Amino acid sequence: MTQNISDLSGDAEFQLRLRQVVLAAQHTVKQVGLLLIGFDCPDHSLADLTRMPNFSDSVWTRLRNTLRDSDTVIRRENGEIAVLLPSVNGSDDVILVAKKVLGSLQEPLLIEGLKLDVRPRIGIALFPEHTSSATTLMQRADSALNSARRSKTDYTLYSHGDNDAQRSPLSMGQLRQAIVADQLFLLYQPKINLKTQSISGLEVLTRWQHPDLGLISPDEFIPVAERTGLIIPLTLWVLQQSLLQCRTWGERGIDVSVAVNLSMWNLDAQELPDQIKGLLQNIGVTPDKLELEMTESAIMGDPQRAIRTLSLIRDLGVKLAIDDFGTGYSSLAYLKKLPVTSMKIDKSFILNMERDKDNSIIVRSIIELGHNLGLKIVAEGVETHEAQDMLRQLDCDEAQGFYYSRPIPVDAMTEFLKTPPVKLTAQLTEENIMSTPAHGPMQRNGILTNPKL
Ligand code: C2E
Ligand code: MG
Ligand code: MG
Repeated sequence: MTQNISDLSGDAEFQLRLRQVVLAAQHTVKQVGLLLIGFDCPDHSLADLTRMPNFSDSVWTRLRNTLRDSDTVIRRENGEIAVLLPSVNGSDDVILVAKKVLGSLQEPLLIEGLKLDVRPRIGIALFPEHTSSATTLMQRADSALNSARRSKTDYTLYSHGDNDAQRSPLSMGQLRQAIVADQLFLLYQPKINLKTQSISGLEVLTRWQHPDLGLISPDEFIPVAERTGLIIPLTLWVLQQSLLQCRTWGERGIDVSVAVNLSMWNLDAQELPDQIKGLLQNIGVTPDKLELEMTESAIMGDPQRAIRTLSLIRDLGVKLAIDDFGTGYSSLAYLKKLPVTSMKIDKSFILNMERDKDNSIIVRSIIELGHNLGLKIVAEGVETHEAQDMLRQLDCDEAQGFYYSRPIPVDAMTEFLKTPPVKLTAQLTEENIMSTPAHGPMQRNGILTNPKL
């Protein structure tokens, strides 16, 4: 007997099955257990990750060997996976299953030969212990999952009184307010041309200075923005601010380009090319001063559509880069068709490449592959002199990382860009920045030279 897994209208089918088992359980002393499995992955939004075509297939294969025939597994439309246990004695039983599931997902997933390091999180809810209705069981599991994510624990059992809206510090309303009330601000991190040792561009990285919670990283608020659709106005704001800054630098004789990150949802928006064109024209910055970065999985969500949107943007003269290359689901067939100009190797391969032979082999292969496709190769996460040397030897074109500079605020960056020849620093840390106001005066201080460049 096989388990019930559906790749089709997951949520609707699941609701039906849920109602059936709840109905059956009402006549017994047994309970119904629901596990909701979500996936966190460093450097990827959930949406990116779970849209990978082979992702849930791989997870499913692992789960098949762990669960019973009577359990139901469904891939939800948002990419999470729900497991329904129709007859359990209590929460201990469900926790046991959750631990087995976690065990089965411990080894990194291999997708198209690439290791994907994902962290499963599980929310657990029981009928009738946590709710007397089938409809709210999923909501309970959802709250528990959010709680597991927030506390970064492997699994969480729903507890009465959990209220997402109250407990989630990053609600949609607050993020909307943040955009309006100027609580978001931008940091800039340089990319270095490894041949000329000069700055080839700046990546723009967004931060949220929350009035109560302090500095919030994009890994926390970008997923909220993506889930709620606020990523669209947020990205337009980032684009606008970056281009305005680029113009200001230009007016002061500083010739530098800016790179803005896009999410998958931006690529879904058909009006994006026109919006970018309008921004460039209104602000008065030439298209070659703008680069856009997106992860391969953001593109692979709907590759045909992404290629159409990206081609229109590329036709404007804007540069495009694949971000975090090597971690996502990449199809070489599509890679060739993408209208991109550069490829950024994910920092997970670079951070320990001096010690990890496998990683240095992967980096070498990516550089060769990229060059064969006519792309410029950028290494992210360069933290040491040794890594820089290795990358030079491997003929990598550009590098970015704490070795040269952390992402720093605009004033510090201006100071930095004004002082030729380019001298870079690892002295301005984000920790410094965190403890100072977003646009405070400290950023002008502490710029030290890095003689080892
Ligand atoms: P990303 O685009 O891959 O950006 C690079 C991330 O690596 C940044 O993290 C940067 O601080 C970090 N990094 C750079 N050099 C090093 C290094 O040498 N060592 C280590 N360990 N890390 C390094 P950050 O700023 O926390 O941003 C995280 C991610 O959030 C970004 O990854 C990007 O995907 C996303 N993000 C940031 N701003 C925006 C935005 O405005 N829009 C969108 N859609 N995503 C954004
Ligand atoms: Mg990036
Ligand atoms: Mg990256």
